[in-house]
Amino acid sequence: MNNSFPQHAALESLDVKDGCLQIGGMSLTRLVQRVGITPFYAYDRKKISERVALLRRYMPPEIQLYYAMKANPMPAVVQHLAKLVDGMDVASMGEMKVALDTPITSHRISFSGPGKRLEELRSAVASDVVINVESASEMERVVQCGEELGMLPRVSIRVNPDFELQSSGMKMGGGAKPFGIDAEQVPSLLQRISTLGLNFVGLHVFSGSQNLNTSAICEAQEKTIRLATKIAHQAGVAIPWLNIGGGLGVPYFPGQHPLDLAAVGERLHGLVYDIKQIFPNIEIAMELGRYIVAEAGIYVCRVVERKTSRGQIFLVTDGGMHHHLAASGNLGQVIRKNFPVLIGNKIHQNADDVVTIVGPLCTPLDILAEQIPVTRASIGDLVVVLQSGAYGLTASPVAFLNHPEPIEVLV
Ligand SMILES: *Cc1c(COP(=O)(O)O)cnc(C)c1O
Repeated sequence: MNNSFPQHAALESLDVKDGCLQIGGMSLTRLVQRVGITPFYAYDRKKISERVALLRRYMPPEIQLYYAMKANPMPAVVQHLAKLVDGMDVASMGEMKVALDTPITSHRISFSGPGKRLEELRSAVASDVVINVESASEMERVVQCGEELGMLPRVSIRVNPDFELQSSGMKMGGGAKPFGIDAEQVPSLLQRISTLGLNFVGLHVFSGSQNLNTSAICEAQEKTIRLATKIAHQAGVAIPWLNIGGGLGVPYFPGQHPLDLAAVGERLHGLVYDIKQIFPNIEIAMELGRYIVAEAGIYVCRVVERKTSRGQIFLVTDGGMHHHLAASGNLGQVIRKNFPVLIGNKIHQNADDVVTIVGPLCTPLDILAEQIPVTRASIGDLVVVLQSGAYGLTASPVAFLNHPEPIEVLV
């Protein structure tokens, strides 16, 4: 590729045969025939399994792995992951239903979200899942649901920590936040919890997301464990289970590097050892979404037009921002950067063209890649967006302009 362009980490490890991308052990062109129509998302089950295996290899053996379903709630993906992880974090009644369809026991499903409706809470109590309580008044509503149903609801408390995850793509804890209960208020709440008719299972601290900085992640994990210890001492209660969150990021943009998972694991071994000295029976969980699925997924669309405007080449495709908002740069990016994008049926050593790839929508926001080097492509060729297994279809405005929805397949 043209050396003047910054490289994507994801482009260095492609499986290519005769110039064609391979996914799930088959060529992209055959996969297109199998799916029968473009655009589509394809998720590679082997890559998902390998990701979990990598986590098992580097994380301390005591760590329970939870899958945060909002990253990719496709039922087939969730069913596949149910065989590999220890639990699921869900954030709506719809996600809870998908999790309850898997063989995972309800006690290993945790339900988070700052605005759970009464019917969601009732359904969660009746399902006997763990409710991550995010306010004192929500706790009262859970008690009420328990009384109505004659059940002892399982609850954990989601703590809004007194620190932030530094250099995080998305901060979800620290300062004033709608998520969780401020750490300062948790000890007094915990003292009341035993009198309320609730089964207290532990604490949940999620400080942020999409982090590629090893030391920032380790620091947040250390602070989380210290905070949980402090809360336990102040409240004078045992913490049976502690969910330390996740935040592990993936390289989406040029110049970003994969996380040093071995280094994260090494530090965590020490932290788990330390907290076990204080609470020998504590169970510790990590909760990951994108780290498990993002790199296992591709989005595929087809070139329907090739045109030149005032010297710039545009490839217009049958897919775009309505299917893949993140790649278009409209999902939380401040400065638009390109996801790794290539012509999947024509992968050659040298790029012939510099092109801008857009979707079919009548809006300048509908961009899949801006000014990238690619093999010369014509109508019918296949545009592939890598790193598309998380926050793809379900994070996109599919109804915008009313084009057909893309298909999803697990291969
Ligand atoms: C979104 C979310 C996650 C997953 O974040 P990723 O960056 O996909 O790993 C985990 N836990 C909670 C509470 C979340 O809201």
